Amino acid sequence: MITAHLPSGYLLGRGIRARGWLMGAAVLGAVFPDFDLIWFYGVDGRAFHHHLYWVHMPAFWLVTGAALLTVLRLAAPGALPFAAAFLAGVALHLVLDTFAGGIAWAWPVSNHLTTLVAVPATQSHWLLSFILHWSFLPELAIWAAALFLFFKRKLS
Ligand SMILES: [Zn+2]
Repeated sequence: MITAHLPSGYLLGRGIRARGWLMGAAVLGAVFPDFDLIWFYGVDGRAFHHHLYWVHMPAFWLVTGAALLTVLRLAAPGALPFAAAFLAGVALHLVLDTFAGGIAWAWPVSNHLTTLVAVPATQSHWLLSFILHWSFLPELAIWAAALFLFFKRKLS
């Protein structure tokens, strides 16, 4: 996914009937892994696929998420719903990135990026190739659904 992580987080939040900070946690989790683009462009100079950074590794989130939820359950149970919403947003991000972007689900055993749909480089820029490929339609559908629900709530 390129553009639909933010609205997918909103849909996730709506799905769990989140409002306020809980909605914020779901949306933040849904976009959080792509913060690695700052490092990808600013430090590494695009040397590695950014889906190979730790924030895009399911195994990393499995371990840290379990640790985080365990610690919060013991130390700050009131924060558990926010952490769970954040982690659910991260999981959603990784699933959506698997659709056309590639995620290393088998890491650390393998760095292979699993993807459901391979988008061929048909245009002069990779972004155009993605936007003009049929696999971009689900992104538009996610945006449409999120905007519909957002404005429906605002108008009611
Ligand atoms: Zn991503």
